[in-house]
Amino acid sequence: MKILKDRYQRTINYLRISVTDRCNLRCQYCMPEEGIPLIDHEDILRYEEILRLVRVYAQEGINKVRITGGEPLVRKGIVNFITELSAIPGIRDLSMTTNGVLLKDFARPLKVAGLKRINISLDAVDPETFFRITRRNKFHDVWAGIQECITVGLSPVKLNVVIINGTNEKEVFDFARLTLDFPLVVRFIEYMPAGESRWNHELVYPNSHIKEQIQELGTLIPLPDEKNDGPAVRYQLKNSLGEIGFINPISSHFCHLCNRIRLTADGHLRTCLFHDDEIDLKPFLRNGCDDEKLREKLLHALEKKPKQHQIHEAHFKKCQRTMSLIGG
Ligand code: SAM
Ligand code: SF4
Repeated sequence: MKILKDRYQRTINYLRISVTDRCNLRCQYCMPEEGIPLIDHEDILRYEEILRLVRVYAQEGINKVRITGGEPLVRKGIVNFITELSAIPGIRDLSMTTNGVLLKDFARPLKVAGLKRINISLDAVDPETFFRITRRNKFHDVWAGIQECITVGLSPVKLNVVIINGTNEKEVFDFARLTLDFPLVVRFIEYMPAGESRWNHELVYPNSHIKEQIQELGTLIPLPDEKNDGPAVRYQLKNSLGEIGFINPISSHFCHLCNRIRLTADGHLRTCLFHDDEIDLKPFLRNGCDDEKLREKLLHALEKKPKQHQIHEAHFKKCQRTMSLIGG
């Protein structure tokens, strides 16, 4: 098995793939009410094009793949696609990030198709707050989907929670309490400067505040870092079934640990969430290029992967694409 390194000697083994820019929610921090201008269907990578890329890149050292979007479950044929992905030699970890709206029906077929684990984005357990954030009345569908994931044995089931100052900080306790009763991994991810334009430092609710709040419920027992599982700092409340993690892209730099690259729905290879530098692979894929060219493009992209984000610098500019386009 080859090991892929960037120019700062970080091992790159993780590819996040956005399969669509479409979505059935309109989270305030990600998309405007009216949605975003959609990419033409013919400009979205076809499944067979994505599968080819994954086959080639798996030979170079990519062994972990996450499917995201937009909302991946709104794309037709997603279950068959997962079946094919899971059969690619070398891919030992296959996961998905979804808003969970359609999971009640999809959890079981996804599990059968070879999906190992799942992250569900949920920023409120209060249905009204959920509606305020997502502009859709779908909390109960998401909750049913979460239960179904537990039932069918997708494991772990992680909830990705973004707390925004002045919006949903009241939800912190309820999310922490969920881990007492359910085998859920709740992960608080700080609000990041991508997507809708209203991001500013004041809206970031630091994870250190969340941790202090949760400690009012009980002692947070530290858990060891999960090998190959990215930058979450993990804890558990005493006697809980689940765990609580903190991902702090804003309050602490973890760029030196970054092991990931992204493939956008329209076929661009992107090496950093917060840099708009991308390589468009579509022309090569569609002009009959050989696998060597795809390898060359990957290595070229890694040559340019930035050392770290510049969010705290005065000259920092929010990225042009929304998270739904990049594949958050
Ligand atoms: N639609 C799917 C979902 O919501 O899980 C997958 C795509 S969504 C863009 C992926 C993740 O990005 C979600 O967990 C969402 O909360 C997160 N996200 C979007 N915009 C964000 C922002 N500005 N800061 C932090 N997380 C963000
Ligand atoms: Fe859709 Fe996910 Fe963006 Fe919410 S965060 S609007 S669910 S893509």
